[in-house]
Amino acid sequence: MSGELDLDELYQQVILDHSRKPRNFRELACANCRCAEGHNPLCGDRVTIYIEIEQGRVQDVSFSGSGCAICTASASMMTDALKGKTVEEARRMFTWFHDMLTGKVPTGQVADGIGKLAAFSGVLRFPIRVKCATLPWHTMAAALAEDKADDPVSTE
Ligand code: ZN
Repeated sequence: MSGELDLDELYQQVILDHSRKPRNFRELACANCRCAEGHNPLCGDRVTIYIEIEQGRVQDVSFSGSGCAICTASASMMTDALKGKTVEEARRMFTWFHDMLTGKVPTGQVADGIGKLAAFSGVLRFPIRVKCATLPWHTMAAALAEDKADDPVSTE
């Protein structure tokens, strides 16, 4: 297949794995779950993030919807990374992830608790894909901010 090398470079192994076998891909239906919807019109990605907060900690988090490989992998890895984190830590990770994908974090610098998410730094070289990767995070942040959770998130 032509173009396969480019794809390998863009998606990296860990991203490919998560896009093929997304983790936490299900709806949460607990009484005190928060959820928010996000939409990236540039690519057509749609994602809904469900998050259950108990005593200031992420008890459970999942997603549904349909997105491209980058969006799906980002949502999958984000939900994996957020479990057990405090709301404050979740917000910090969002800020860090967003900064990384907008080029504000020096290349090679890895924040505590980010781990595999650093794989997305490669997306920086493909500006059209940045919104695909950040959409699940923006949507998660909206779900955390209860008062805003009713308005769908759009990257536009
Ligand atoms: Zn996309």
